[in-house]
Amino acid sequence: MRTSLLFLGTSAPDAGPDDMPAVALRAGSTLLLLDSGEGVQHKLVSSGLGLNKVTAVLVTHLHGDHVLGLVPLIQTRSLLFKPAPPLVVVGPPGIRRYLSESFSSLYFDPGDSLEIQEVRGSEELRLRGTPVSTVPLDHTVETLGYAVGLGGDTGVCYLTDTRPLSPERLGLRCQVLVHDSTFSWMDLERAREFKHSTALEAASFASSAGGRLLLLFHISSRYKDRGVLEREARRLHPHSYAAEKFMLLSLVL
Ligand SMILES: [Zn+2]
Repeated sequence: MRTSLLFLGTSAPDAGPDDMPAVALRAGSTLLLLDSGEGVQHKLVSSGLGLNKVTAVLVTHLHGDHVLGLVPLIQTRSLLFKPAPPLVVVGPPGIRRYLSESFSSLYFDPGDSLEIQEVRGSEELRLRGTPVSTVPLDHTVETLGYAVGLGGDTGVCYLTDTRPLSPERLGLRCQVLVHDSTFSWMDLERAREFKHSTALEAASFASSAGGRLLLLFHISSRYKDRGVLEREARRLHPHSYAAEKFMLLSLVL
């Protein structure tokens, strides 16, 4: 199966150049968008992916940096394509209200092409044949992690924003793991206070979850040199890399 990950934004909330969280995961004919940070539609277009091929958007939680690109994305698709291709939005409770109130305020009707699925906790979904498991994360608001199955018991896991989980809570082996690494271990108290993870904690989780590749994600702008976090993570997990905007990974699984 042709599988790739393209990072469209990898930072914690900031007005810097790397932009808000969004990752495009292509698995065969399915194109999943993991979170939908501000400006994501422009990056989908400039990266060549386009707007019409996105099958589903998997939203982790309703903090603005993860969701503020979603309404413009849906609206532009509806304006450009008649009819707009079907789109599923999966998210925690509140996603339906957020979207319907936004559309209502904007005098916009997304029509029948949009399907919204609210998920609480652990569920098994199937999005155009691709299995997707959800897992509750440990953040300041209700937050979902996603594990996208890519055959057998392996997959790509997207776990942000969160304190580290115990690996047993995931039913899937995270061959590729995109994990919250907002802080360095030197700022562990801040990570605990704001319910995020350090790069060292992400690496510890990746090792025990059997992950082959760890991508450090949702990185605070306080770390001008992301190599600091890579070196920290590699103490526990040698195959750790700090994600960056427009980083493209072709996965051979
Ligand atoms: Zn958050």
